[in-house]
Amino acid sequence: MKIGTKVIHAGVHPDPSTGAVMTPIFQTSTYAQKTPGDHKGYEYSRTHNPTRAVFENNIAALENGKFGLAFSSGMAATDTIAKLLEPGDEVISTNDLYGGTYRIFTKVFQPYGVSFKFVDCSEPERVLDLINEKTKMIWIETPTNPLLKVIDIKAISDIAKGKGITVVVDNTFATPCLQTPLDLGADIVVHSVTKYLGGHSDVVMGALIVNNADLHEKLAFIQNSCGGIPSPHDCFLVLRGIKTLNLRMQRHCENAEGIAKYLGDHPKVGKVIYPGFEDHPGHGIAKKQMSGYGGMVSFVLEEDNQDAVFGLLERLKLFTLAESLGGVESLAGHPATMTHASIPREERLKAGLPDGLIRLSVGIEDIEDLNADLEQALN
Ligand SMILES: *Cc1c(COP(=O)(O)O)cnc(C)c1O
Repeated sequence: MKIGTKVIHAGVHPDPSTGAVMTPIFQTSTYAQKTPGDHKGYEYSRTHNPTRAVFENNIAALENGKFGLAFSSGMAATDTIAKLLEPGDEVISTNDLYGGTYRIFTKVFQPYGVSFKFVDCSEPERVLDLINEKTKMIWIETPTNPLLKVIDIKAISDIAKGKGITVVVDNTFATPCLQTPLDLGADIVVHSVTKYLGGHSDVVMGALIVNNADLHEKLAFIQNSCGGIPSPHDCFLVLRGIKTLNLRMQRHCENAEGIAKYLGDHPKVGKVIYPGFEDHPGHGIAKKQMSGYGGMVSFVLEEDNQDAVFGLLERLKLFTLAESLGGVESLAGHPATMTHASIPREERLKAGLPDGLIRLSVGIEDIEDLNADLEQALN
């Protein structure tokens, strides 16, 4: 099945008890048993819930994986994966990581004795240099947030192979419509379902997908033990959102390309970062491992000071100034004071994230209206 069909059908079947075409919301915490232990696979909803199970099967199929697990947020999924680690273990990750992931690594897991090394993973040889016998995990995002660097998933997976290192790819920005990391050798794919998968800015949810049965068993054990699970209602909303994921991604990609070109030609705009540009350093790898360049565009103004940047953000009307991304509506953000404020300024600058960078999550509105909004705000 191709992705446009999978988003609608994979793992989703009419409800066997009623024939309902849409997956029912099984809003129940517990399940009747005839005699102790005689049940239909469902005992308690922290462990299993039928609405959640449909979402877990659907997302697994989209990522070409065997097993999916759903969580109450992207961070709850991240937390579950990090709990595979033990004191003394080392993790290598990228240096322009999502701010919340950087925070949970350095503020929550580091005190438990896990160490983290951050490096520009778009140069895989730098990752290779940091690997030692303590390295247990490599954690990447691609394209990265907000610098949209492209990391070669296959090259990173090849480096880790045979060394007992688990490769985790945060696929939130690309979605399985544009890239499937398990096919390129990754061990775990993690998502902030809150973003493109949900797609309507009305749910906070997370997921992870794996192929390996032992790894799935360990992660499902942590999911059930720690309990960061989503509600059946949220799973329903996401199943509904995913039905249009492929269509939405096509439009997000088209609109982002249009906006990147518009900004690139504007005299008041300095550098525009967009993986679809041929002079983007990761363009070649993006072309190889992705089927589209995504809906995110970052840029700096020619006049790079806080007044100019905040003035532009305040004048935008259709682009809402807000954290988050991946919804149908266009959003603008200022990473240095918003999503990436938890990363110290020196670290941010070292990673190449200037104070004035503006990040756009380009929505699925009409491109003429989006360009007109940027035009009035820039002038
Ligand atoms: C938002 C985000 C997360 C965190 O997900 P939540 O659903 O907000 O907990 C992780 N990674 C990336 C790339 C994100 O954009």
